[in-house]
Amino acid sequence: MDCIFCDIINKKSYAEVLFENESAISFLDIKPINYGHTLVIPKIHYENFLDLPEDELSELIKVTKNISGAIVNSLNPEGFNVVTNNGIAAGQSVFHFHFHIIPIFKDEDFRFRLKLKEYKIGLMQEYANKIRAAVSV
Ligand code: 5GP
Ligand code: ZN
Repeated sequence: MDCIFCDIINKKSYAEVLFENESAISFLDIKPINYGHTLVIPKIHYENFLDLPEDELSELIKVTKNISGAIVNSLNPEGFNVVTNNGIAAGQSVFHFHFHIIPIFKDEDFRFRLKLKEYKIGLMQEYANKIRAAVSV
């Protein structure tokens, strides 16, 4: 399977690695939204958020929190976004699961500016009912 992130894990491709342990690796995104934009990925190849087993996810969240703290302490952003894109429609371009950590600086031009929708009467309940019926926790 051709996967750039697996190549980075296996040191076949170069990346500016920030941290690595037995289950996760974190490195700078090659095309940052803002400087310091970081990726955190599991060493095992899973395509997306739903594929990731819970123990791996909790380990990855720990690393993501730790690296987020290091970014905040070293780069002093005003804030940061932790996001994951799942599926082409959601903007996923590398199909090896990853968290993005994106520092947001005062004088940077990029921030998430969302175009928000409004629910018409009854529609919020309709969506909630559909999702509730599928919840299996
Ligand atoms: P996605 O679009 O799947 O949510 O995020 C994939 C990210 O991986 C993108 O932000 C992209 O810039 C980054 N990326 C793609 N190829 C490479 C690479 O070879 N090295 C590094 N460091 N980042 C990469
Ligand atoms: Zn991979």
